[in-house]
Amino acid sequence: MDRKKVIAEIKQNFMLKRLNAQQECENFINNLKRDAEFNALYTDYTKKQIEYTKAEYEQESIALKNDILDLKTKIDKFLTAHNIDKSKLTPKYDCPICNDTGVVGGRICKCLLNELNKKLSLLSSSQTEFKNFESSDENLINDNDKKAYDVIKTWCEKYPLVTKLNINIIGGAGTGKTFLLECIANEMLNKNYVVMFKTAFELNELARLYHMGKSFEFGDALTADILLIDDLGTEPILKNVTLEYLYNLINTRQIHNRPTFISTNLSLDNILTRYDERIFSRLGNKNLAININLTSKDKRLS
Ligand SMILES: [Zn+2]
Repeated sequence: MDRKKVIAEIKQNFMLKRLNAQQECENFINNLKRDAEFNALYTDYTKKQIEYTKAEYEQESIALKNDILDLKTKIDKFLTAHNIDKSKLTPKYDCPICNDTGVVGGRICKCLLNELNKKLSLLSSSQTEFKNFESSDENLINDNDKKAYDVIKTWCEKYPLVTKLNINIIGGAGTGKTFLLECIANEMLNKNYVVMFKTAFELNELARLYHMGKSFEFGDALTADILLIDDLGTEPILKNVTLEYLYNLINTRQIHNRPTFISTNLSLDNILTRYDERIFSRLGNKNLAININLTSKDKRLS
């Protein structure tokens, strides 16, 4: 999936959403205008507002402003008397910060960024929502893992003021590795980072398609602010693809200081055997990576 395309698509949706809200509001007002009293008040109100924007002298502005307030009070009274929701007189935008334009002060608004994050990360996994730390069941986690959770939670809170950018979550089946990755994804999405969440299998497939020139989505894995790779070691090793692209991915992300989280069943020794020295030295290096060993045994966590 192409990032630019996703952004264009989201912007298009935002524009439609905005137009819809405006249209709905306009229809509502036109309907109300059938009432002569409302029509007179509202026409006067909009006329004064236009005059106000054109007013050149302060005295004039103050007088108009008072008129506008006065008319607004009358309109509100009319609506209350007729049991009509006054919020419907203004378009109902989803985002009160940018009014669904997606832009605020020349920068991308949080709402558009969230939408983008969701698209980029959720298209890769079938979930519609990630887990969060609060949803973990304390009773199912042993003390070792509680400490591990704290380490990761703190990392998420501190980021980007962290020293280690590779986090390996190691543990057997049912220890809650995926759950933890989802918590991280959720935390980082809330901090408005572009998060990409892929299983190693999916990522391997993207690398294969990239290698054949059929899809360039693998490029997103290089540039995403945060990359989470679930279940490293379950993907097939494809000749000229798996090791090469994985090394390139980890290395490029390290060069650009972009964090990568990995969950795996494999011990560090097994990573060395399955992949190679270069990948191992990038992943396992204690100066660059935090290794988290999960030991809780409960399927409900995974
Ligand atoms: Zn917004």
